[in-house]
Amino acid sequence: MLHIPFTNRYDALGDAFYVKTLPASVAKPGLIKFNHDLAEQLGIVTDKLETDELAEIFAGNQMPDGAEPLAMAYAGHQFGHFNPQLGDGRAILIGDMQDKDGQGFDVQLKGSGQTYYSRNGDGRAALGPVLREYLLSEAMAKLGVPTTRALAAVTTGEEVVRERMLPGGIITRIARSFVRVGTFQFFAARGDLESVKKLADYVIERNYPQVREAENPYVDLFQTIVDNQAALIARWMQIGFIHGVMNTDNMSIAGETIDYGPCAFMDDYDHNRVYSSIDRDGRYAYSNQPPIGLWNLTRLAESIVPLLAQDDDAAVEIAKAILNSYQPTYEQHWLAGMRSKLGLTTQVEQAIADDDKALIESLLNIMAHHHADFTLTFLHLSQVSQLTPSTSEQDTVLRELFDNSTQIDEWLETWRQRLSHEALNDEARQANMKAINPVYIPRNHQVEAAIRAAEDQNDFSVFHDLHDVLQNPYVEQQGQDRYKLPPKPEEIVHQTFCGT
Ligand code: AMP
Ligand code: MG
Repeated sequence: MLHIPFTNRYDALGDAFYVKTLPASVAKPGLIKFNHDLAEQLGIVTDKLETDELAEIFAGNQMPDGAEPLAMAYAGHQFGHFNPQLGDGRAILIGDMQDKDGQGFDVQLKGSGQTYYSRNGDGRAALGPVLREYLLSEAMAKLGVPTTRALAAVTTGEEVVRERMLPGGIITRIARSFVRVGTFQFFAARGDLESVKKLADYVIERNYPQVREAENPYVDLFQTIVDNQAALIARWMQIGFIHGVMNTDNMSIAGETIDYGPCAFMDDYDHNRVYSSIDRDGRYAYSNQPPIGLWNLTRLAESIVPLLAQDDDAAVEIAKAILNSYQPTYEQHWLAGMRSKLGLTTQVEQAIADDDKALIESLLNIMAHHHADFTLTFLHLSQVSQLTPSTSEQDTVLRELFDNSTQIDEWLETWRQRLSHEALNDEARQANMKAINPVYIPRNHQVEAAIRAAEDQNDFSVFHDLHDVLQNPYVEQQGQDRYKLPPKPEEIVHQTFCGT
């Protein structure tokens, strides 16, 4: 039997918030992967269920008991342009639930057919984007980045029409909330303040109960959302993650990474890297992610401003003050994280700490200039994090990541001087650094290879192998070196696609 402890609180908000929709039946569901660990963690019971029963359910052919499937309404700024009505066009919330600890989660099928909000779309997903989201979101979770999770992936046995015919797939994903900035915008744009308030109350109840006691809970709610978003984007920056399509409808109010479309991890470092084929002006380039976060939060502020104070001017001032806290909060998270990546964790004299930002930036500039791999640079720095390297060869592996090594050699010297102010010994510092500088990330060419094998040859072994390595991103795994390596020139993936 399958038991999901549904609570269906979103359903209770009433029909201004969604349109009830059943997933479409598909021809021949096949289970690619089911995340048993996550199911267990959430208190989803799948006792004695056969693989094909799981496939039927997570393909949407059979709804679990207690499900109340619906498509959520939302609006959003897409590449800066407001669309008052987007909504779940190819996703269906089958219900929200509560885990053993009372935490709320939403369960959503993506790629399960048309809804009221599909516009011209078919409501389907191709297999490629399903595998991509599964790999990327689970890798992010294991890297310790707040994210939606993947519960199941299935094939549909049907084809979807894109530039060419492609096998169809459906992913089941779990979020602390699928409410987005765009959900607030949907009601604000209609002047429906009552629903804005109802939505805010729902979010507080479900995701931020700690703000209930505040003088004005909505003020604390907004501050918490801003803080969480700043922390999230700092984490993205620290692992070289580029979301690719940070529209306001793709920004969760729960501070999780959501909507894995044309996202990608960088190989060699470039501040302005863009992968998404539709991001022609680089609006969502790597370095633009922090300011875009603020831009999106400003749209949220506009939507909820009447809740922040009785008086209009006072409300605007409160919103401004909270928005002004975003940049310093972001920088604090970024700096703390980057310092840790370099083994700088001791409380040192201000005069010394003041130079850390410049030290980090100079490393990033040298990396950019000499095309050094982002992930491997930090990994190898963890390995050579010694005050006095016993042989200069120890630095060679690191040096070889750079087109030429003069600048990095100089930088290493400065860094080691700085390390002499740290309290930990080499061994302890190295261990700390290795715990936050990953060995494995879902590299684009590996993800692409997994998709190609599945789509073209019906071979899912490449997907499974890659997935398994990414379960332990911080631990060097025997015989898995190829997952560590950057692409060869002919393997480089220059562009990623939404696949919609
Ligand atoms: P995205 O940029 O992928 O987050 O999608 C933006 C909007 O387009 C959302 O409202 C989606 O539901 C909708 N959408 C994307 N792909 C499809 C599709 N294949 N069929 C229907 N709607 C879609
Ligand atoms: Mg989206």
